Amino acid sequence: MNNWSIIGHKRAVQQMQLAVEREAVPHALLITGPDSIGKRTFALQLAQAMHCTAERAAQRPCNHCSACQRVNSGNHPDLRLITPAEGKRGVKTDSIRALIQFLTLTPIESPYKIGIITTFERIVPNAAHALLKTLEEPPSYAHLILLATDAELLLPTIVSRSFQIPLRPLSRPEIAAGLVAQQEISPEEAQRLARLSGGRVGGAIRAFQQPEFLQQQLETMQLLFRVLRSDLPTRFDLAQELARDDRLVRETLEHWQAGWRDILLLQTGNGSQIIHLEDRAALEEIAAEVTLTTITQILHHLTKAQDDLYRNANTRLLVESLFLKFPQM
Ligand SMILES: [Zn+2]
Repeated sequence: MNNWSIIGHKRAVQQMQLAVEREAVPHALLITGPDSIGKRTFALQLAQAMHCTAERAAQRPCNHCSACQRVNSGNHPDLRLITPAEGKRGVKTDSIRALIQFLTLTPIESPYKIGIITTFERIVPNAAHALLKTLEEPPSYAHLILLATDAELLLPTIVSRSFQIPLRPLSRPEIAAGLVAQQEISPEEAQRLARLSGGRVGGAIRAFQQPEFLQQQLETMQLLFRVLRSDLPTRFDLAQELARDDRLVRETLEHWQAGWRDILLLQTGNGSQIIHLEDRAALEEIAAEVTLTTITQILHHLTKAQDDLYRNANTRLLVESLFLKFPQM
């Protein structure tokens, strides 16, 4: 038993809970996993457990003490969270330098000084190199928690100096049960959200709190069907329209990947496991028309497009070339 309010990721929670109790949390942690899997929530809970002042270490984070509350509200003086500015792809080098400075100053209240950097895969090499020295010789109180979608996108020297915590997609029952327990939600709705989340608990919670995101997910599938039915000039127009919004492109690629996995499942007789039940008929139609080779090629193109997007490729060219690779229905 522990006080972490996290859905799933049991092993990782146990591991870090034990590390907190033994005062043996590694100086550099690298939490990896797809968007919305719960990396930031995990990092903040860990920071809360480390800063918590509850007498018994096993009870941290207690969620009640002043330290816990200030971590929750983003006001703890010994914690800093660095995220890209709105509309920007990665964190700025200046923010990284400021964070390194912050980490070297002795803590004010807690025994620890903690810095969290999100979307670390999109950090510029200069900033990563600046961090390396901190990772090599960290002050005894300094802790750095890096969040990234995939360790393979990072400098190997950063990865080798960090303790890795990979977070993987959760099962549908795990997410559904967690939603019912934490969010005052009916079991039916929880099951639907768990299914559409593709194993990403953050996605399920976001879809519950902001229904427009779920709507957007369903709309991106409609866009896929439109692209498949369009001729080349129309595809160029659709690509240009989508490419205006980087974030939408990223989310669309993820939903399409789930969509094409559904097509693969339908074609291989595993239709009961598909995510997009709402679009089953349209997906079945596609499954009947394309070959297995085409599906695996498209899944490969989608993965590559997502990687390229993280590597700051030209979004419009990327979307256009992807649209041209799709078969015509
Ligand atoms: Zn506390």
